[in-house]
Amino acid sequence: MENIFDIVIIGSGPGGYTAAIRAAQLGFKTAIVEKYSNLGGTCTNVGCIPSKALLDSSENYHSVKTRFAVQGIEVGALKLNFQQMFLRKSEVVKQNVSGINYLMKKNKIEVIYGTASFVTNNELSVKAADGSANSVKSKYFIVATGSKPSSIPGVEIDKNRIITSTEALSLSAKPDSIVIIGGGVIGVEMASIYARIGVKVTIIEYADSLIPTMDKELGKELQKVLTKTGITVLVNQKVQAAKNNGESVTVKYLDTANAEKEISAEYCLVAVGRKPYTAGLGLENTKIELDPKGRIKTDTRLRTAEGNIYAIGDVIEGVMLAHKAEEEGVLAVEVIHGEKPHINYNLIPGVVYTWPEVASVGYTEEQLKEKGIAYNKGKFPFSASGRARASGDTEGFSKVLTDPKYGEVLGVHIIGARAADIIAQAVVAMEFEVTDSALGKISYAHPTYSETLKDAYLMASGSGALNI
Ligand code: FAD
Ligand code: NAD
Repeated sequence: MENIFDIVIIGSGPGGYTAAIRAAQLGFKTAIVEKYSNLGGTCTNVGCIPSKALLDSSENYHSVKTRFAVQGIEVGALKLNFQQMFLRKSEVVKQNVSGINYLMKKNKIEVIYGTASFVTNNELSVKAADGSANSVKSKYFIVATGSKPSSIPGVEIDKNRIITSTEALSLSAKPDSIVIIGGGVIGVEMASIYARIGVKVTIIEYADSLIPTMDKELGKELQKVLTKTGITVLVNQKVQAAKNNGESVTVKYLDTANAEKEISAEYCLVAVGRKPYTAGLGLENTKIELDPKGRIKTDTRLRTAEGNIYAIGDVIEGVMLAHKAEEEGVLAVEVIHGEKPHINYNLIPGVVYTWPEVASVGYTEEQLKEKGIAYNKGKFPFSASGRARASGDTEGFSKVLTDPKYGEVLGVHIIGARAADIIAQAVVAMEFEVTDSALGKISYAHPTYSETLKDAYLMASGSGALNI
């Protein structure tokens, strides 16, 4: 069988499926190749969607347990049905996968299941699960093969006791204890899920704070919140080894004083970052180059060294986020279409789905200091928000960093209830260069969590907050 397409996309994650939809919308004869039997990639199957389903379920359970009584809601004996919680998670994944299948059909995108490998810059060999191989030819290709979990020296992931987020999202029974290496995004989200349902969780983080790539004040506040949930957070600790003892794992690490320490738990979750995935892609049959981190090199138009092959998402440079991959999928297709699209990488928001949530866009305070850029700071605590008091969600703050001369917003960093949704307003403000004083003058519904941003803008602009 031989197929000739305008655009073939390799990988059906958020980058790939979004690129395919945009390509079909623009009239290209489009195909998408996926090696697994489910479309959706990491995000839909073992990432964003299942983790958020479990984060919601575990937060509901934790709320009933810890926050209902004070509101006068008395429930009988509370019981956790771990299997049902995970079954629901799988159902949510299934619904999302079938949503993507529907979108492929609706947009008349040909879906080809199998592992794609370049034969030339115009031809793929796609090997199906039954071992048969088909040639797929196309004028253009978009590589969207994503990423896989990485590890550190001395820690070998065996997927049994020493596991990644993929296994942690599908455990068959509730464990007693988990030690998590890495206090980045996966570390704190998975820690939240398990600690809320009563698992003893320890996070061992190498840097001096949690979520260390975000604004430092966020990590410090998050550490307080997670510690209150019962999570043991160890920062400034370097993990050296992990050993599977059969029924448990022992993790060895050096503490702040460089003393050797060890801790045992039922599972060790390795959450020290992810690496780009290009294995078996046949890149050696093309001119495509990799950078020292194994990422596919592209120009600003996302073109590789082969002019007709583009690459997007986790497999190239930049933050590993679903919405970044999506934006790049659209950009690559529109470039092929002859348009001049643009992505403002500084305005891609980052969200951590703990409770309260953490959300951030633009420069951190540390980055502004390092670059020698002057800034004004407005920081408003959720404890002073009427909405936050009404719901009992008084932890956290909204912090804005603005240009002292023109009032341009340089960065917004929020830890607080619904921060994930509030941040969208900050992205709009920054994209369209609305000033801090203008943002302090518009009307925000009362009482809402978003009012914390209004007061922070007022503080940064120098006119003073109205609620503190
Ligand atoms: P992927 O989603 O990784 O998809 C790549 C696809 O390519 C896969 O389906 C793979 O099977 C396929 N493939 C690879 N090689 C081949 C080949 N040779 N032939 C055919 N197919 C191939 N991001 C967020 O923005 N928000 C979140 O809340 C969030 N939560 C996350 C939670 C977890 C636990 C994890 C692990 C990640 C999370 N992420 C989140 C990150 C997000 O999942 C990734 O940034 C996103 O999936 C990247 O999309 P992608 O399209 O580049 O690649
Ligand atoms: P990460 O880069 O966010 O965090 C890894 C952490 O491990 C860092 O804090 C790092 O300092 C620490 N670390 C590294 N070596 C260590 C060692 N020897 N000992 C102790 N700690 C060590 O990576 P991640 O949490 O694995 O997540 C991977 C990717 O998935 C991220 O890029 C993230 O963007 C994406 N993701 C996003 C979301 C979201 O958007 N909500 C959720 C989950 C994952």
